[in-house]
Amino acid sequence: MAQIIDGKALAARIKEKMKTQMPQLKAQYGRLPSLYVIIVGTDPGSQIYVRNKINAAVSVGMDARLIELPEEISETDLISIIHVLNEDPLVDGILVQLPLPAHMNEERVVDSIAKDKDVDGFHALNVGSLWQGTHCISPCTPKGIIQLIKSTGIPICGKVAVVVGRSNIVGKPVAKLLLDENATVIMTHTFTEDLKSLTLQGDILVVAAGQEKLITADMIKPGAVVIDVGITRNASGRLVGDVDFDAAAAVAGYITPVPGGVGPLTIAMLLKNTMECFLNHAEANSSASKIWATVINARIGRTNE
Ligand code: NDP
Repeated sequence: MAQIIDGKALAARIKEKMKTQMPQLKAQYGRLPSLYVIIVGTDPGSQIYVRNKINAAVSVGMDARLIELPEEISETDLISIIHVLNEDPLVDGILVQLPLPAHMNEERVVDSIAKDKDVDGFHALNVGSLWQGTHCISPCTPKGIIQLIKSTGIPICGKVAVVVGRSNIVGKPVAKLLLDENATVIMTHTFTEDLKSLTLQGDILVVAAGQEKLITADMIKPGAVVIDVGITRNASGRLVGDVDFDAAAAVAGYITPVPGGVGPLTIAMLLKNTMECFLNHAEANSSASKIWATVINARIGRTNE
């Protein structure tokens, strides 16, 4: 019987650790990490997501603000607001909740966020850096998936990892992060022939398709680590993943539940990304201050302390 990977407990541990770091950050840099979440319109699902993100940030002691904008705001005005936040040195992370209303171009809006404040990791420059292997802000869900796999203690290096789904927000970036961990990665999608023959090879199986019971027990390699990213509401109104959980748990070595698996890690990684952005900004400010001190001291003929 598979061990359940408890995403809720793992996320709680990550957040608890972050919370303990806040007093020291405040003492060292004079302020706390700040996250600004923008929501356009009143979609109930999106409202729940943004409140969860804000509440999580507040719970660890971050300065988290919600900017609520009307559905009919123009793309130009939204981008102007983002530009103001980009310029504000007290803002570390900016997140625009997707989807946006149909009259907006999501790509243009996301790319208007400063690269160093893009806590979702969706900006084209962050995506490019991810694929080049240079420093970047990794997207939250894929980053959380890697943490979940690592929490099992099973090494990723050298293993066959099968990813079901190739979206820009989950499938593609998680495949790249698995490759960075030296897994041999197989990516699959709706045109894949004989999905089962591939999923059966996976020592690690990450499923992000959004289809209830797409993965049945006979498609899982015995002992595999199974990460179920899917969240859909089934006919009886229950939130379910893409994996037939009860039967799969009899075959897999480790498995994430839905809910309580990937979801909590996505939020914990958003906080980690905000923290990373904050530290980058704080360090850049303190080295900028030192450079200014050097220049000013040279002008007035004083040596640096
Ligand atoms: P998309 O709809 O953007 O992508 C789904 C992908 O799955 C596509 O690449 C599609 O292939 C592939 N796919 C669909 N059906 C099959 C199939 N039968 N066989 C093989 N591949 C298939 O979804 P997302 O990536 O955005 O999200 C996937 C799921 O994860 C959703 O349920 C979503 O709600 C959930 N999710 C959960 C998060 C969390 O925090 N827990 C965060 C983000 C997403 P093709 O490209 O050929 O169409």
